[in-house]
Amino acid sequence: MKIIERNQCFYCKSPIKNLLVMEEFPIFMGVTSQDKKEDVLVDMIFAKCVRCHCVQVRNLIPLEVLYKDSHNGSVGKIWLEHHRHFSEFILKHASGNVVELGGAHLILANHLEKSEKIKTITVYDTNITGAPDSEKVMTKECFFDHTTVIDTPDAIIHSHVIEHLYDPISEIKSMANLLTEGGKMIISAPLINNMLNDGFTNAMNFEHTYCLSKALLYAILANVGFEIIDECQFNKHCVFVSAQKNNKVQKVTNFINDPECFLNFVKQNKEQIRQIKDQINTNKENTFIFGAHIFTQFLLGFDLPETLFSKVLDNDPAKQNNRLYGTSLGVASPVILKGLESPLVVLKAAMYTEEIKRDILENINPSTRFIL
Ligand SMILES: [Zn+2]
Repeated sequence: MKIIERNQCFYCKSPIKNLLVMEEFPIFMGVTSQDKKEDVLVDMIFAKCVRCHCVQVRNLIPLEVLYKDSHNGSVGKIWLEHHRHFSEFILKHASGNVVELGGAHLILANHLEKSEKIKTITVYDTNITGAPDSEKVMTKECFFDHTTVIDTPDAIIHSHVIEHLYDPISEIKSMANLLTEGGKMIISAPLINNMLNDGFTNAMNFEHTYCLSKALLYAILANVGFEIIDECQFNKHCVFVSAQKNNKVQKVTNFINDPECFLNFVKQNKEQIRQIKDQINTNKENTFIFGAHIFTQFLLGFDLPETLFSKVLDNDPAKQNNRLYGTSLGVASPVILKGLESPLVVLKAAMYTEEIKRDILENINPSTRFIL
């Protein structure tokens, strides 16, 4: 595998300087049944642009390797609610023929097709898992390629795609080229800076390779010729934006990012690992870590020893009885906590933490103790 090295800032093309190296980090944030020695580990290097200060990941994994096995597990309540709200926001602004990038589950597309305003929705994803509710929803099982779009779309929509782009400016620009003047791009994007501020370990990684903030999102859109016409803050960590193609829009120069959120995140995590180690007071058989995902890989990457835990817990049946990629830890359902006396669970699952904790205490084992 040939790593793609980002040697200059994706935004302003200035040099970047290393801030933090997490050596030999798993490139896949999910589970596997393969032999451990086949796991691919690459140094995760966080670097800062010397000019605009944007924090970004230096080593990039070729897309066909990174997304070889989808980790789109089941869709939780939060996502269902997100897609419902985002579809309402889209319908305020879009009509006619719509192209969606990502959207494997077809949840958004199936919401939108119910509206009379929408004529067709063509969904591009490498791993389509949903079934279309009607013939208005069409699928293309591949990475988005602007040369395969036949008719001029009236709107291009994407949810949680922009943070995955290695070169968002040129990629958004090539999407914009498909639209005529006045065409819409409607985006749902995570606010990586706010996620870092709240200590979310799923904020930046090999998939989300730069620190997206609302200001940076607006700057990217302006610089490729979009005028922002509406915004809805879905929650602290996610924003919906509707933008309209407008060749008279003013470009943003001299944009400076705030790198403090990343530096504080690193400081917080190192302190947290110290606290977790201090709080683990049970034997390995009674100690678990939740999440067969990046959350756990990140804590281990910050030097939390995996030997402290007997299993990784995860609610997704598709992940259970596999191994967390890049580790020796097996994955089990939280149901295995049943009957154990005061088991201890390290649970750092960002926005999912409360939902998971409540489920374990109410439905599995009320004596469970958590390190949150
Ligand atoms: Zn820069």
